[in-house]
Amino acid sequence: MLNYNLQIPEIIEKIKETQAEVVGLQFPEGLKIHATEVARQIENETEATVLISGDPCYGACDVSDVNMGGMVDLLVHFGHTALPIKYNVPVLFVEAHSNMDVMQSVKTALNLLNGYKRIGLVTTTQHIHLLDKVADFLELNGKKVLIKGGQGTRKGQVLGCNFSAIKDLSADAFLYVGSGNFHALGIKLSTGKPVIIADPYRNEARDIDQFADKILRIRFARIIKAREAERFGIIVSSKEGQYRMDLAKSLKKMIHKSGKEAYIILLDDISPELLMPFIDLDAFLVTACPRIAIDDAKMYKKPLITPEELLIVLHKKKWEDYKIDEIKYN
Ligand code: SF4
Repeated sequence: MLNYNLQIPEIIEKIKETQAEVVGLQFPEGLKIHATEVARQIENETEATVLISGDPCYGACDVSDVNMGGMVDLLVHFGHTALPIKYNVPVLFVEAHSNMDVMQSVKTALNLLNGYKRIGLVTTTQHIHLLDKVADFLELNGKKVLIKGGQGTRKGQVLGCNFSAIKDLSADAFLYVGSGNFHALGIKLSTGKPVIIADPYRNEARDIDQFADKILRIRFARIIKAREAERFGIIVSSKEGQYRMDLAKSLKKMIHKSGKEAYIILLDDISPELLMPFIDLDAFLVTACPRIAIDDAKMYKKPLITPEELLIVLHKKKWEDYKIDEIKYN
């Protein structure tokens, strides 16, 4: 039994309706183990031939519409919601809701929300279908629940690079339902408010404060080190949803004005190995996914900073006003 609802009947119906002869499938890493099973069902029940994307995929910023352009009539992308960008082939986004029960961890989280009345409620795509149930539970327990949609995100949904759904919410604290710490960290750094994680994967609830302190200490050290840099590499991702060339050009000008050098480097995937040949550069600025600089900090010997952090490096912003980098779409 699958742990996620992959909506196979709906996909098959769509393939038949559009008479797609070749169908691309793209999964995030955690769902790739289901790829051949899904392909088998599609090929058994339709006339279509399936192509599975084997490349890594971390978000709707990274849809293989360009790679599969001209090869497929329909691309089925699992695990993410569409971003407000133009895709090169017809894409069917399948959110892949988790079948996991979240209520146990939410009940535990309630104790940590003691003393806070107005609760901003957020999650990721996997659990978005359960948000109303969580909201009802919180309301029954005396909380006032605040949920809103963001720019390119659904009601109550945050991405690691998009916290617009929590902007201007007058919450006393936030409850994030989901795994990991990054989204909760982003909420904390965007709002400065207490953030509690209800983690159904670990079946626990926790406060983000300790993790946030640890990350901020690391970021502070990277910023101080980047101040010594004379030559910066500005990394631009060629992935459609992470491509920020205009930002890179304006940051390059800003660095030049401060008397330092900067070079724009275009990359698809970003890794320490790919940056190794740039031995004359002292620091790197990542305009791609904001998670790279923060999640992978330890993998890079030279400082890898975000555009927001560059402003602090160049004394255009104070450390006290530190914000997580976000990708905005027009
Ligand atoms: S840029 Fe990063 S955080 Fe944003 S959707 Fe892509 S992988 Fe997720």
